[in-house]
Amino acid sequence: MAKTVHTTCAYCGVGCGIKAEVSDQTLHLVNIQGNEDHPANFGRLCSKGSALGETVSLENRLLTPEVDGEVVHWDRALESVASRLRDTVAQYGPDAVALYGSGQLMTEDYYVANKLMKGFIGSANIDTNSRLCMASTVAGHKRAFGSDTLPNCYEDLEQCDLLVLVGSNTAWCHPVLFQRIRAAKQQRPEMKVVVIDPRKTDTCDIADLHLPLRPGTDVALFAGLLMHLSERGVVDGHYVEQHTTGLQGALKAAEESAGSIQKVAEICDLDCQSVEAFYRWFASLDKTVTAWSQGVNQSVAGTDKVNAIINCHLLTGRIGKPGSGPLSLTGQPNAMGGREVGGLASQLAAHMDFSDPADIDRVRRFWQAPAMADKPGKTAVDMFQAVEKGKIKFIWIMGTNPLVSMPDADQCRAALAKCPTVVVSDCIKTTDTSAYADILLPAAGWSEKDGTVTNSERRISRQKALFPLSGDARPDWWIVSQVATCLGFSEAFNYQQASQIFCEHAALSGFENSDSGKRRDFDISALSRLTENDYDQLQPLQWPVSGRGHYTAVGSKRLFAGGGFFTEDRKARFVPTCFSWQRNQPDEDYPLLLNTGRIRDQWHTMTRTALSARLSQHIDEPFIEVHPDDASRLMIKDQSYCRVSSAFGNAVLKVTVTDSCKQGTVFAPMHWSRTNSRSGAIGSLVNPLTDPVSRQPDCKHTPVRLEAF
Ligand code: SF4
Repeated sequence: MAKTVHTTCAYCGVGCGIKAEVSDQTLHLVNIQGNEDHPANFGRLCSKGSALGETVSLENRLLTPEVDGEVVHWDRALESVASRLRDTVAQYGPDAVALYGSGQLMTEDYYVANKLMKGFIGSANIDTNSRLCMASTVAGHKRAFGSDTLPNCYEDLEQCDLLVLVGSNTAWCHPVLFQRIRAAKQQRPEMKVVVIDPRKTDTCDIADLHLPLRPGTDVALFAGLLMHLSERGVVDGHYVEQHTTGLQGALKAAEESAGSIQKVAEICDLDCQSVEAFYRWFASLDKTVTAWSQGVNQSVAGTDKVNAIINCHLLTGRIGKPGSGPLSLTGQPNAMGGREVGGLASQLAAHMDFSDPADIDRVRRFWQAPAMADKPGKTAVDMFQAVEKGKIKFIWIMGTNPLVSMPDADQCRAALAKCPTVVVSDCIKTTDTSAYADILLPAAGWSEKDGTVTNSERRISRQKALFPLSGDARPDWWIVSQVATCLGFSEAFNYQQASQIFCEHAALSGFENSDSGKRRDFDISALSRLTENDYDQLQPLQWPVSGRGHYTAVGSKRLFAGGGFFTEDRKARFVPTCFSWQRNQPDEDYPLLLNTGRIRDQWHTMTRTALSARLSQHIDEPFIEVHPDDASRLMIKDQSYCRVSSAFGNAVLKVTVTDSCKQGTVFAPMHWSRTNSRSGAIGSLVNPLTDPVSRQPDCKHTPVRLEAF
């Protein structure tokens, strides 16, 4: 009998609600529709979301545990993981083990994995592919607000008079938000859209102004904007006085970085008129949203870029108001949920932090943790480098394919080849990464999972199973809990359902979190006593949540319009951001700059989206976009093949000659792997440089060379 399940899309951070009509559980037949009642998408879906039903077959599913190539029962697999982990810690200490997770995990999975690593193993070496996604935004938020809090919501993208999209091909990477923005602009054609991106992408179709700036110069552009606003008196003096500190330092840094519009235009390789037009609109249109994505985050100056943007919003008091504020568009479906449970090596659960000993002690007491980590662990790039150096001897990779997605992917490959124990838990059997696993653990796939995810606007939604678990697959939280039990921590990990974990996570968010103590932003403690039925029926809502229980709980659309930041003095910080040229500039050997990113119809390393023939019709092979002048100079023809080399690796890609690329730059998608394309994997080329604050890798700025093939 058919049943309808309300769940959430598996892909991007928009977090669209889905109505899945399951007609045959055994045959995995499901009809996918957008959920009209979900506030993220109101029934809309993009090509990827609507094709989810075509990706739920058992093709290439990992269905049984394997140890050293032998299919085994769960008991043996779990004991093998636990004993190798225990032995490694006993011999080399807790920092010799690491866990690398994923923004695809449920919040409940993330919570349990963090609890085990940080509270019971005693190491914060737990990072995720979210480090590649939004770590710079996390760091920028914390520097400015004292907390990782997104002040605004999706409605603001529709209500603003000026929308500035920075480093975001929203049309392809957050398609439903783009549909909402386009509809708003059709209704109010006077709404202005500025796109700031070296590439001319499909997002520019709705742009009144496109600023194809030189890669890596965003800090100068926004420093110039801060100066421009200040000089013209476009300042909310009351807001600045009452709710911020540090303006003078930020203005001084801005002046040094970008003394005039001419200087900004020179640095950014833009014409003065375009810069002036952007600054004029920002100054005159009060309802302004600046939204950004990976073009800002994936940079050695990512955190500074975020703060340079936020500075302009603080100066004008345009924050947390309808149609006004800075808004980060998160790449993954649950990178936000991961942040909430401390899913990065630099964080503790419930937005607590290693920088505060009281936070460490608070989490320790709540968990009754026997071996609480007391310092941050290794972040993604550092983690794989530590594996290669032999400092990490046990790594557990969960729900992600780093040998495709990480920068300098060949280094990561060499690291895993050397590592004494590699555990991979995944729903996919054959990936570049699983080929290096000593132990393979079959995890539940999207259509079998039960839990919660949080989208880019802080909205927590339920994800629900459409089908029973396939083969021996198990939820990630169950796998981690069972390993913890094998390690002797059964009491602390005695979870029978995802709802128990969610309630514990909610309770921790409210633990010693009051105005009389150190108030933290993330508080969903009103949801800490949900029954199984309440959890099942939980409707999407934005944190922080107030009220006395599930039925009275109210989410928070916007924050900070009246100040109330999470710093000691409750004031936001202007952060001085100084523009400087990146050191990894093109040179004689590698004269072009490689920018990497997503295409419209594929997701990450294609392990799911490639199962849909419809999605593969959009673009069916790896390619590189080259500006016509560069192509002509290099005698490379459109639709021919070329070899692309960097100091780290090389690939062979089909050439698309297009003036959508800025001269001197090339663009290639990040999706293809060695598993599905012998020579099109791009991660091998990307330099492993990271932002010094956020440790997010710079995937947008690698010097490369092109040769006709
Ligand atoms: Fe899924 Fe994102 Fe598309 Fe929505 S916009 S359907 S969340 S991929």
